[in-house]
Amino acid sequence: MPGSLIKRFQGKYRRTLSTALARRLVKMQNAMPLISFTFDDFPQSALETGGRILCSYGVRGTYYVSLGLLDRDEPSGHICSSTDLAEVIAQGHELGCHTFGHCDAWETDPGSFEESIVANRLRLREILPSTNFATMSYPINTPRPDTKRRSGRHFAGCRGGGQSFNVREMDLNYMQAFFLEQSRDTPSIVWELIEQNRQQMGWLIFATHDVAVRPTRFGCTPAFFEEVVMRAVKSGVQILPVAQALSALSPRGIQVEKKI
Ligand SMILES: [Zn+2]
Repeated sequence: MPGSLIKRFQGKYRRTLSTALARRLVKMQNAMPLISFTFDDFPQSALETGGRILCSYGVRGTYYVSLGLLDRDEPSGHICSSTDLAEVIAQGHELGCHTFGHCDAWETDPGSFEESIVANRLRLREILPSTNFATMSYPINTPRPDTKRRSGRHFAGCRGGGQSFNVREMDLNYMQAFFLEQSRDTPSIVWELIEQNRQQMGWLIFATHDVAVRPTRFGCTPAFFEEVVMRAVKSGVQILPVAQALSALSPRGIQVEKKI
């Protein structure tokens, strides 16, 4: 069997396993449809350009950071510095966890993955003592079921991919998201998704990495990003960072077992 086909089967097998197991289901009770904007890795341009666009429309986003990568050049661009973390909070955005070492959610053994969650928290406490991570996103791959289970104990919600939106009932250990960079040449898919989300009272979580005129393959241009934000605002839904959106859809609050 050719390698690409094996990879495709592997990917499907992982997604099926991951979706079916270690779930933490919640019935969505949001009074309005929701949209969130999230950035993985937190390259500097995600705040400088992406954050500026969000703020110009009066909305805020969520930045998922791996504190072991600060100031480094990574495949998604130049990663933020510790002063950018304070700026995120000052502007009213949410800071979320992406593990300390940007651990591959499938390839890393679940114990080491959890250690990296804890390491990220401890480092955040040194940099910004009054801030904590309420949500996380899985780096690189779909998580193993045991990784989902362990991660879910630390956070109100853990975001994956899936190129879809959440509706009616969702798995807090694998919240569906849509990576914008995968549709930057087919924007009509995004416009349709915004409309479907509105009609079905869903929660559409957008994800990307850098926002730059010449983006990496993991990011998108300011023009495309701004059009997504503009259409999201125009659709009349509530646009909130991930932790606030979780409060809106579960008014009685979400239990978290491990708060260190
Ligand atoms: Zn990442």
